[in-house]
Amino acid sequence: MNEQKNIVVLGSTGSIGTSVCDIVRRSKGRLSIVGLGAGKNLRLLAKQIEEFSPDKVAVMSKELADELCKMVSLKNIKVLWGKSGYKELASMASADLVVSAMVGAAGLIPTVYAIEAGKDVALANKETLVAAGPLVMKLVEENRVNLLPIDSEHSAIFQCLQGYRDSMVKRIILTASGGPFRQKPKEELSSITPEEAIAHPNWSMGAKISVDSSTLMNKGLEVIEARWLFSVAPETIDVVVHPQSIIHSMVEYVDGSIIAQMGIPDMRVPISYALYWPDRMELDLPSLDLVNMGALTFEEPDLDKFPCLGLAFEALNMGGTATTVLNAANEVAVEAFLKGNISYLQIPQIISMVLHEVGAQEMNSLDDVLRADALARLKAQEKAGLLH
Ligand code: NDP
Repeated sequence: MNEQKNIVVLGSTGSIGTSVCDIVRRSKGRLSIVGLGAGKNLRLLAKQIEEFSPDKVAVMSKELADELCKMVSLKNIKVLWGKSGYKELASMASADLVVSAMVGAAGLIPTVYAIEAGKDVALANKETLVAAGPLVMKLVEENRVNLLPIDSEHSAIFQCLQGYRDSMVKRIILTASGGPFRQKPKEELSSITPEEAIAHPNWSMGAKISVDSSTLMNKGLEVIEARWLFSVAPETIDVVVHPQSIIHSMVEYVDGSIIAQMGIPDMRVPISYALYWPDRMELDLPSLDLVNMGALTFEEPDLDKFPCLGLAFEALNMGGTATTVLNAANEVAVEAFLKGNISYLQIPQIISMVLHEVGAQEMNSLDDVLRADALARLKAQEKAGLLH
């Protein structure tokens, strides 16, 4: 990559967003930030504005935008807010690539705007493909843009697929760390606190994805993401627990060869690959010490202890808007758990009830997605309230 790439970062104040900023900082001018989109964290956004001098920034509301104006000099910077603000940011004429790193279904519409504006997208927000996979992939094709995965597993698969034809793929093998409760007896899961659930053994991430990792819903969302991103049938996607998180995922080809992508678990690797693709960025990470790293082990996921993964496969097989419903119910349940309103084991219970009550409708338009999302949220909120 010789020319400078201009990027917009949606979710710049999050765990992925700050790592993206770090990559830009180390890119020796190859990458430049032209737009920053945050939610409510004005203090961090103000620092990022001072460091990266973007042309446009967006926050969640007008009140937050007004507050931001008092905190930092915004000369020559356009301040935007709300849905229209994120839209303008995602479709900035000067942007070559948009990083989609907001959390939750809130990331869907800005990502769609970016694609419709003809931008390549580096996708961290897996909820986009979980909620609206077939529609988003159709838009990607119609607008001839690249959708480059940031999720480490999908980046691994993407790397293992380079240079091969889709018809040669036999199986996708997604690895899972198993989360912090892999070895905890099922009976002890009922007393899990939010603090315990967000303490991931191998990765440092935002609160929602950390809880998702602990329930294995994150792996379920990734299965759905992989199904659409790589256009593979659900039955050709396997999940294997690999507690060391050294192999980030694998692809098995028709001749029985399995190609794996390995490395130290550090999100800067998949993020930089998405930002530099098809090149690679030099990172100052230590080399993997193969001799001293110990054994790499693999286990079957325990679907009885972690029903969320099974629910994700079920929703995928139901088709239509079922995965939209699964995603929305999960977001509400995780938020209720983090606020202390429901217990850990009520997360899968609520998702299961909502998925089976709301069911699947046809997904022909984004309106279908937004309707299913809203209904599932309402039902999940009712359940979370009822169970409290
Ligand atoms: P964080 O919670 O750390 O950050 C979320 C970002 O989204 C913040 O910038 C936040 O703004 C912003 N945000 C939250 N809600 C809204 C909203 N309603 N409208 C606009 N912006 C909003 O999450 P992560 O960085 O961990 O995850 C981001 C996405 O990347 C998720 O979809 C996750 O699944 C995915 N992902 C994350 C990985 C990781 O290692 N963290 C790995 C792979 C995928 P603010 O803080 O300013 O309010």
